[in-house]
Amino acid sequence: MSACLVCQEVRGVIPVPGGFLQSSGSSVALHVPPLDHRDVYLGHLLVVPRRHVPDFAGLEESEAAEIGVAISRWSRALATFGADRVYVATIGHGSDHLHVHLVPRWPETPSEIPWHSVDEWSGARRADFDGAAQFAGALLAEADLH
Ligand SMILES: [Zn+2]
Repeated sequence: MSACLVCQEVRGVIPVPGGFLQSSGSSVALHVPPLDHRDVYLGHLLVVPRRHVPDFAGLEESEAAEIGVAISRWSRALATFGADRVYVATIGHGSDHLHVHLVPRWPETPSEIPWHSVDEWSGARRADFDGAAQFAGALLAEADLH
């Protein structure tokens, strides 16, 4: 479990841009950090349980409720920033610690780009750590207003 990337993010071993958007009792929300000095898709958020649980089936109901509220809240914040849609997915092939992806579809995304590739086309909004931190800060400020 010590090698778990998500656990390291939750414990603050891996810095996340702008710090946690939300750090309540059993879950945290964060902007994905650039790993290996790459850039990241702007607005790509994660909602994760603090507990090392592989999937939704392993959650306590209180954890599931909290994660559901967080998904709703941060989807709304991304929409406020102009996202046409917010895709929500759990994939889990890379880590056995549940992490829910919130991936905004920004309005300039060509209609032929499928949902799972909105971060890959040439004009996709991308940012380095500082750019993502700035966005996370703005998102947090916006979320606090509502
Ligand atoms: Zn973990």
